[in-house]
Amino acid sequence: MEALSRSAWAEVDLDALYHNARSIVRIVAPSEVCAVVKANSYGHAATEVAKAAILAGASWLAVATLEEGISLREGGIKAPILLLLEPERRYVEDALRSGLTISIDHPELAWEVSAARDRIWGDEAPQVSIHIHLDTGMGRAGASLDDAVEIAKVARFSNVAIGGLWSHLAVADDARGRPFTLEQLKRFEAARLALAAVGCYPKLSHIASSAGAISYPSSRYDMVRVGIELYGYPPSAQVPLPSLRPVLSLKARVVHLRRIAIGEAVSYGLKRPVIVDSTIATVPIGYADGVPRALFDAQTEVLIRGRRYPLAGVVTMDQLMVDLGEESDIVVGDEVVLLGRQGREFVGADEWADKLSTISYEVIARIGSRVPRVLVGNPQAIHENEVAR
Ligand SMILES: *Cc1c(COP(=O)(O)O)cnc(C)c1O
Repeated sequence: MEALSRSAWAEVDLDALYHNARSIVRIVAPSEVCAVVKANSYGHAATEVAKAAILAGASWLAVATLEEGISLREGGIKAPILLLLEPERRYVEDALRSGLTISIDHPELAWEVSAARDRIWGDEAPQVSIHIHLDTGMGRAGASLDDAVEIAKVARFSNVAIGGLWSHLAVADDARGRPFTLEQLKRFEAARLALAAVGCYPKLSHIASSAGAISYPSSRYDMVRVGIELYGYPPSAQVPLPSLRPVLSLKARVVHLRRIAIGEAVSYGLKRPVIVDSTIATVPIGYADGVPRALFDAQTEVLIRGRRYPLAGVVTMDQLMVDLGEESDIVVGDEVVLLGRQGREFVGADEWADKLSTISYEVIARIGSRVPRVLVGNPQAIHENEVAR
């Protein structure tokens, strides 16, 4: 349940999402775009994000888990949905009934898809389509080349069609990874030939995610699977895409103010005594909401009235404190921006990520489920305007 009683929320700007998706659709055309909306669309709001991405021209969606796929179907999404993680055997029927396209890493699971299809629909119904997931060097999941060929053969003897062949690049976001990325693309090409040799020509070959889609145009094939760029951040500083607009803002309100004297400190550990008499603001959001405790040591700032202020002490589970300094015009109820824009100032997920030695993906994907998502914007209106013009 979302804590609506508390003044902390995440704003999801669907106009920005539409804008980002539209830019990517234009850049990679005629390749198709698969909008990756796993993990509640990296912490945003999966169904609404999916609808805006489709409106902008994405033709596929991708999720990690069966539940994520079912939730999109329950939200009324009709577009094809790719399940990136091979499901356990016992969930294959559920995946098929929900109309999800299953990624297959193992020949045995392809046979199980065939059997499940027959159990559900018998002889009459059409084929179901699967995508072969090939490992070309990521080393996380996916079939070996031999297994990929075995999976392709299953299709010859069953009502299962090979609708796609895909793989995933491990270092496309880093220029030093160029030789390995080219090697992965070579292995992918070799797999396409090996499949052709057994009469298998998947309609969709796809290997690029955000980084590959921008840095390696030859990796776009029939479709790119884009996540982080939809949400307004580049996959790394080496893959700049200046037109992106961050979609998520994390906001709260000041709920309490107190004065402390020079030499006093606040929060667990009383870590940083103030060097002048100071006003401290309490803000009801904490590390259980995805605001990392380490942000205090990393000297992160928040925005109030368009100005940057430092944290006054370590972030606690549900609340944090901000040092407003000696003189302050801030009042209870003022809006605090932890991530996002306020006036001329901006704090991005990549700013937190740099300070915490992580990536923007982790910052946004970890915004807690307790934080209500407030949707703003009207992509339908932008879309109708574009069509009319
Ligand atoms: C998460 C994921 C993506 C999206 O990656 P981005 O870098 O966010 O674009 C694409 N493909 C697979 C297999 C993934 O797991």
